[in-house]
Amino acid sequence: MPESQASFAAVGADPAALGGDADTERARALLAMRRLWHADESACVALLAPAAELSAAQRARIEVRARDLIEQLQRLPERHLAEILTHQLALDSPAGLALLSLAEALLRVPDAATADRLIRDKLAGVDWRAAGLGGPMAAALQLGSALVGPRLPSGARPAPLRRLPAPLLRWGARQAMRLIGGRFVFAETIEAALARARSTPGDADHGQPSRYSFDMLGEAALTAADAERYLRAYEHAIQAVGEAYRGLGPVSAASVSVKLSALHPRYEYAQRERVARELTPRLCELAALARRYDIALTIDAEECDRLELSLELLESLLAEPSLADWRGLGLAVQAYQKRAPALIDYLAQRARARSRRLMVRLVKGAYWDAEIKLAQLLGLSGYPVYTRKVHTDVAYLACARRLLAARDSLEPQFATHNAFTVAEILELATGEVEFQRLHGMGDALYRALSSRIGAAGVPRIYAPVGPRTTLLPYLMRRLLENGAASSFVHRASRPGAVSAYAAPVAAAARNANAPHPRIPLPRD
Ligand code: FAD
Repeated sequence: MPESQASFAAVGADPAALGGDADTERARALLAMRRLWHADESACVALLAPAAELSAAQRARIEVRARDLIEQLQRLPERHLAEILTHQLALDSPAGLALLSLAEALLRVPDAATADRLIRDKLAGVDWRAAGLGGPMAAALQLGSALVGPRLPSGARPAPLRRLPAPLLRWGARQAMRLIGGRFVFAETIEAALARARSTPGDADHGQPSRYSFDMLGEAALTAADAERYLRAYEHAIQAVGEAYRGLGPVSAASVSVKLSALHPRYEYAQRERVARELTPRLCELAALARRYDIALTIDAEECDRLELSLELLESLLAEPSLADWRGLGLAVQAYQKRAPALIDYLAQRARARSRRLMVRLVKGAYWDAEIKLAQLLGLSGYPVYTRKVHTDVAYLACARRLLAARDSLEPQFATHNAFTVAEILELATGEVEFQRLHGMGDALYRALSSRIGAAGVPRIYAPVGPRTTLLPYLMRRLLENGAASSFVHRASRPGAVSAYAAPVAAAARNANAPHPRIPLPRD
């Protein structure tokens, strides 16, 4: 067993029972991962610290580069609505809750009478300007609230507006919701998405067209019919993207990102055998199509307890002889999971064993609140994720080094909107690396970066595609992660709020790598 795996395996308290053939390299790599699932947080961070350590000269260069990016992005005249929205509006304020409730339901309400009652119920009495919102969305919402809000001071309700008919009010509220949706959803159909991608100039300064990864909006399928619909949508998307980007190869062409939970109604570990039987052929079908067009297909990272299922499916794809010459298979890895470094070792080992190359998108992880809540509900011995943001930052840096060291078999892709993280990766990487951002986020950061380092600073854009009525789960994740005070996007949207660069290892050491004191172990 390689030394790194041996030491990671030592962290776990209980040696998990191994399924499958315990003698194989794959089984050993899986075991190393399993032992980290709920491992002691301080021990995990201590183990990662050497790999995330930076010299004084590196820290100084990161500080200078990140500071420059932050100053530039804060000077850009039009910061993105998504960034402004998520920092200005506290989600647990009456305005934030009203907005989320409306966003959840309004676009799905089919009839006018129910929509009117919903709007009245949610908007009455909310003063959007007092909640800190500005711009066209606030104007639309303020209009709605002024019309229906008996609790607003009468001065806030201009008399002429009070006489406006319900259809106009409905229109105003729907427009506001569409405005939010439009900022996060790239297009409603893949055809519209491709047309939009074609007409978007990309990075005008460096003549570099933007690269995309299209994602079919929607979350876990609840029924077999849902799963079938998503399968057809992904199939159609791969065909359309493949036709549009023929001949460019998986690194340069647009790609498609897939959520496995959308392809099966019981995508859960307890249904492992059924999932393997029913989902493997569907995924192989999609992969064969992507291979035929030579574009990349990336498996998104979802909740922690789905990870091993996705690895089993990945293994089936790696074992499929007809896909052997395809270099476009990819997986997202969440650094906030304690298993992340062992997962990277596992992926490198599988790629080498199968003489294949895998694309790996390194993210921090978007389901933090849900993971904490679930572990507490189950009374587990530990959390699968870190409880301090800085520990995730340590892990991201250590995982980035691991990924870069495995470039013989893994193609690293760094997905982040954090200027410090971008500067760290630029410091660690030699040669060109791919950055990724979400549509509607991080625009200013990457515009600033491309003005500094040219075409190499142009990221791939992860572009959700689908009807806005299916936006909510995705929107919630974006609002939760960016509404958090620790989020970089949240801090960067307020001039002066971003403090000096604190190298993650040193910042974690200030608290002796201890878990968050206000997040007791789940069993407690
Ligand atoms: P930062 O502000 O530096 O980091 C915020 C992140 O820190 C949070 O999202 C969380 O992961 C972590 N964090 C916050 N608080 C704590 C805490 N108390 N303890 C421990 N960790 C904490 N996410 C997925 O899960 N799966 C995907 O497939 C996926 N694909 C993505 C694709 C792209 C192109 C991008 C840009 C992001 C993707 N994400 C995905 C989202 C990603 O995981 C992050 O949520 C998001 O990018 C924010 O991280 P950051 O580096 O930009 O910002």
